[in-house]
Amino acid sequence: MKWKGRQQSRNIEDRRGSRIGGKGIAGVGGGLGLILVIVFTLLNGGGTGDIVNNIGLGEPQTGESYQGTAREEELADFVAVVLKDTEEVWTDIFEENGLVYREPTLVLFSGQVESACGIAGTAVGPFYCPGDQNLYIDLSFYDELSQRFNAPGDFAMAYVVAHEVGHHVQTLLGTTEDIMPLRNQMSETEFNKYLVRFELQADYYAGVWANHAQGLGYLEAGDVEEALNAAHQIGDDTLQKQARGYVTPDSFTHGTSEQRVRWFKEGLRNGTIQGGDTFNANNL
Ligand SMILES: [Zn+2]
Repeated sequence: MKWKGRQQSRNIEDRRGSRIGGKGIAGVGGGLGLILVIVFTLLNGGGTGDIVNNIGLGEPQTGESYQGTAREEELADFVAVVLKDTEEVWTDIFEENGLVYREPTLVLFSGQVESACGIAGTAVGPFYCPGDQNLYIDLSFYDELSQRFNAPGDFAMAYVVAHEVGHHVQTLLGTTEDIMPLRNQMSETEFNKYLVRFELQADYYAGVWANHAQGLGYLEAGDVEEALNAAHQIGDDTLQKQARGYVTPDSFTHGTSEQRVRWFKEGLRNGTIQGGDTFNANNL
């Protein structure tokens, strides 16, 4: 992807190196356990179980400054350019639909981070929290993406950002609000089926962004293949097969490799919000 020297988003909050503040449970109030804690991740592997529904943990904030490696700093610049691209593309698309796009903030963290959805560790992977409308990424995930998940390449990384931005689009469009109450109205297996459609829609929106990036001439040879490979490598079936040798489709929350690739591709081909109605699609 052509990105060097291009404009970066200002909506980046760098919390790398800062520890989680100790507010104490007493200051939070007793109702916290009732808050619906859900975050939208890139993949199933980390699991939302790693989100700690408790703000009282951790050491006091130290505020020490963080100096990443040259590679990390380059990644930080890269995601800031991608985020800027998503802001421009989604602002235009929303405008065409008579809507206003509110830009999300991307929080860079290392190790652990506190969000409106709870405290999350690096193992959760990149995620979006509808409660504060922030994207959270520990840049070390990109090494994992290329090595553990066999999805190297800068455009694979761009897809990750675009997928989380897709969840933000779903929040702005009201889709998140529509599906969340269903969680208390059905079994986990039934709700997972909605989650899969929800996640595939985020993949579709990532594809919509890629469609526009392509139109603007930012893509290089091999970029689309990098994103498609990433979508394939993090399909629920592929991850489960790697982790334990068999799959349990009832537990899928993000879709199979084939589905993830198909919906990213569909967004890339179609380029509009309207083409991504995964909830009414007969064939996922
Ligand atoms: Zn997701």
